[in-house]
Amino acid sequence: MSDAGLGRPVAVYARITADKTGEGLGVARQVEDCMRLVADRGWVVFETYVDNDVSAFTGAKGRPEFARMLADIEAGRVGAVVVYHQDRLTRRPGEFEQFVEACQRNGVDQLVTVTSDISFGNDNGMLVARITAAVAANESARKRARILRKIEQNVAAGKPNGGATRPFGYENDKVTVRESEAVVIRTLVDRFIQGESLRSLVAWLQAEGVPTVGKSDVWRTTSLRNVLMSGRIAGLREHHGAVVGDAAWDAIITREQRERVLAMFVSRKRAGRRTPQRYLLTGLLRCGKCQGKLYSAARKTPQGAVERRYVCQSGPDHGGCGKLTISAVPVETWLTEAALYRLDSPDVAAALEGRGETDARHADAVAVLESAQRRLTELAEMFGAGDITKAEYLAARPVAETKAVEAARALESLASADTVSSLLGNGSVLRDRWEGYSLDRQHAIIRAIMPSATIGPGSRGRGNFDPERVQPHWAV
Ligand SMILES: [Zn+2]
Repeated sequence: MSDAGLGRPVAVYARITADKTGEGLGVARQVEDCMRLVADRGWVVFETYVDNDVSAFTGAKGRPEFARMLADIEAGRVGAVVVYHQDRLTRRPGEFEQFVEACQRNGVDQLVTVTSDISFGNDNGMLVARITAAVAANESARKRARILRKIEQNVAAGKPNGGATRPFGYENDKVTVRESEAVVIRTLVDRFIQGESLRSLVAWLQAEGVPTVGKSDVWRTTSLRNVLMSGRIAGLREHHGAVVGDAAWDAIITREQRERVLAMFVSRKRAGRRTPQRYLLTGLLRCGKCQGKLYSAARKTPQGAVERRYVCQSGPDHGGCGKLTISAVPVETWLTEAALYRLDSPDVAAALEGRGETDARHADAVAVLESAQRRLTELAEMFGAGDITKAEYLAARPVAETKAVEAARALESLASADTVSSLLGNGSVLRDRWEGYSLDRQHAIIRAIMPSATIGPGSRGRGNFDPERVQPHWAV
């Protein structure tokens, strides 16, 4: 187990909720367990933050301590965050992403919970944490639906809440669809499902001059994420960030599209803060000599022009053989053509046809994940109550953790097959519009069809591009 980040003190966060069913864990117990964990590891507490989330009607504003903790993370004051269970931190996937981004920007690489550790420095840890956040949102939807039925008639009737700002896509009555914005939402959803980044879509919104509905007139990845993740646009009534039933207003996108959007958020391994794409094929090419990743690099030709290339790099940061280079432009042109051509190929259509059971597989993977996570909580509680020894606890935990990681991987591969389905048969349309797409969008489309390609060694004395060097590995 590694030490807390950078020797800085840690933040302890606890939350009280109205939800007494099954998880009504008192805040005193939460803090106590966290403090014991902090003491066990010899850490120092910077601050304890406790939010009272009892009212089902407070939004993010009702959690001032969460906001204060984010501010302390941003200020570099804390080195790790300790909570009882991830669902105490937040049950809103949007907020969770915000939290992860703040942590990543400030070198906070651990979210430590009494039930399990999540290291943000590790892809599996992140993936599991994200999926947990998404699953928790669903879970709380079911629980809250029961509670809310008793306390708010409005919700049951699917009527919108009060509030000053109209939702993007709807008129001031919050029920009538504003068609000009609905078109924008559908475009955003399509492009997001195809793998385009939030950042690139925000740039598009700004370039198109699409007005916002909030106080700020500038689109941000957070405001875009809120639009994409909202159940509202799929005709679902949400309450407290969780879906509670059908809404009284019309949907702008289908439920199926919404599922895909959520799956995309879940499957993105790294946080939304990706650096913009520099070269079309960055991250997709492998060295045929050593299987290492190729990196983009430019060099000056003897004539003084700049030549873009992909190269295998040796040295401690890269670890490749350093003996392979390919000129960027021809390989980009060739692989783009190949990928677009492949989208229109009957072979791919046939391969995807047999996948009718995707929804069932998705449901299975979610069920496995949920049960693995319940098991982890259960084990921690048994250990906490003294029903099992520490040795028994530590022995039992990896089994459930492995199950969770496997289920998370399965969900991820289903999401990528979905992306290809949505592009299928559109090769010639995409080709016509290709030049108008941002590099980020082009990269996302190619990556969906072709997650990687191996570049073989060049033959001596052949200056021209040789397609035989290129071996694409297709997703389908
Ligand atoms: Zn190499």
